Amino acid sequence: MTFKQLGLAEPILKALQAEGYENPTPIQEQAIPILLKGKDLLGVAQTGTGKTAAFGIPILHHLYEGISLRQNKRKVKALIVTPTRELAIQIGESLTAYGKHTGLRNTVIFGGVKQGQQVRALQNGVDILIATPGRLLDLMNQGYISFRDLEFVVLDEADQMLDMGFIHDIKKIIAKLPPKRQSLFFSATMPNTIVELSRKMLGDFERVTIKPQQATAEKVEQGVYFVSKQNKPKLLVHLLNERPEDSVLVFSRTKHGANKIVKKLGQADIRAAAIHGNKSQTARQKALGDFKDGKLKVLVATDIAARGIDVEELSLVVNYDLPNVSETYVHRIGRTGRASASGIALSFCDREERPYLRDIEKLIRQEVPRMPEHPFVGDDQAQSEPEQHRSPRKQNPSNNRNGNRNNNRNRNRNKNRNRNRNQNKGGNKK
Ligand code: AMP
Repeated sequence: MTFKQLGLAEPILKALQAEGYENPTPIQEQAIPILLKGKDLLGVAQTGTGKTAAFGIPILHHLYEGISLRQNKRKVKALIVTPTRELAIQIGESLTAYGKHTGLRNTVIFGGVKQGQQVRALQNGVDILIATPGRLLDLMNQGYISFRDLEFVVLDEADQMLDMGFIHDIKKIIAKLPPKRQSLFFSATMPNTIVELSRKMLGDFERVTIKPQQATAEKVEQGVYFVSKQNKPKLLVHLLNERPEDSVLVFSRTKHGANKIVKKLGQADIRAAAIHGNKSQTARQKALGDFKDGKLKVLVATDIAARGIDVEELSLVVNYDLPNVSETYVHRIGRTGRASASGIALSFCDREERPYLRDIEKLIRQEVPRMPEHPFVGDDQAQSEPEQHRSPRKQNPSNNRNGNRNNNRNRNRNKNRNRNRNQNKGGNKK
């Protein structure tokens, strides 16, 4: 299947070619024909599957095809609501790229910055509006946005918006949209509240499901290290030193944890920056920009802040903490191994996180290969991890590059373990 066979307008095909997109991804192949027919859609899929183009291309196509008939140039005809500013910015960038020959204009609005510039962009007129829920409602209430001409609405990453407490804002926004519209609803998971919300929002809809393991997990080489909590910083420094050339995204469950990791890396002379909700928008954009430009090799992020990170050359994702929600693991490892590339995702698992690992393996329906022993096996782990000696099912990502080092490491294993044991005597320091 090619994009041309989907019957898309010429300027869009030209832009996709320039982007280097040769074939539609599975979600695009399934969703685009449904959306071109004008039907509502419920998409069960997450970022990393090519979702943005799956909804963005048909919207651009419809708007472009209707341009000559319309009197409402630069009136908001499509609205895309998404949970984070990073994701909103990224969707804006993608639509600008896919629509660069169509003459259609989009703008992005999000909280955490002054509204003046966003209001001016709205007043200048836009065809497509991409927004986070809080700022959108705020500007709607101030009378800066009219949905009189709205034809398309997309609710993106709906489960994440729910987790972030946006449900009331979303309901208020939907209530103000004209009833005659094409509605698209995307969510990685389908808890009851999401099912209810989708029923309220969608008319007669079709459903497309892209399973997580199909979307990302299979393409990403994975591995898990069993390591005690106190040894995680040392193991991270060790892994990063082994891969000085790689762009690495490190996930932390908490904002405080992310700051602590950056500090520990700094002490080991590894430059890193954190992005999370407590950082200013400017600081987040700067860190992300430096990371994308390759000036910064290590970015430490919380799950929510990382939602919109789309870095082409991201070679390694490290789960410093294992997420307690299994779907989050799939989201995280989907940061590497994007649409066509492959990547590596390594996780650190301490004793308390073992149940999370079991849940994750159930969800992705595969065992995360156990990594060989490392120099930082803590006392508690060494005694409680019989599975440590299982051989990895997939090729071991670390062995690919560091075979000799691993041999040395194994030779030193007992020595290190004894040293760690002595260090840890006196109980588990937490
Ligand atoms: P998304 O799920 O929309 O965040 O897209 C994930 C990544 O896949 C982005 O970097 C897109 O640029 C890329 N992408 C989307 N569709 C295609 C395609 N058909 N061919 C190649 N890359 C794509």
